[in-house]
Amino acid sequence: MIFSWYRKKKKKYTRKRTSNSVARIQARLFIHERLTYWNQFYNFSYKRVFIKNQKTRWGSCSKNGNLNFNYKIIYLPPHLADYIIVHELCHLGEFNHSKRFWNLVEKTIPEYARCKNELRTISQNGFHQQLFRSTIKV
Ligand SMILES: [Zn+2]
Repeated sequence: MIFSWYRKKKKKYTRKRTSNSVARIQARLFIHERLTYWNQFYNFSYKRVFIKNQKTRWGSCSKNGNLNFNYKIIYLPPHLADYIIVHELCHLGEFNHSKRFWNLVEKTIPEYARCKNELRTISQNGFHQQLFRSTIKV
């Protein structure tokens, strides 16, 4: 019983590591590069950047200044990946979705409203549905 449980766990672990690791490394490089680029305009300070495999989120920002991103953002059109990166970056300045927050986003992504809608559509009905299965929030 215990042995079969272990075997199942081990199989799951190995599969996860092999299928995701390359994409995760690519995602990490891409996200760091884009964060550095966009943060030239904001100069916020963040602590750690985590690349995650979340089912329901593209990204998030923690109260203590860590940024989290779904590695699958590398499969999105680049302008949407950038929008997600800027969105999380701006939460370092405004930890909410107030008008002030959107003003910060608008500074570098004036067409943010369109990106937001496009992302919502992709999450809900696009071909990415197969990858994500559910609505993804930022
Ligand atoms: Zn947000």
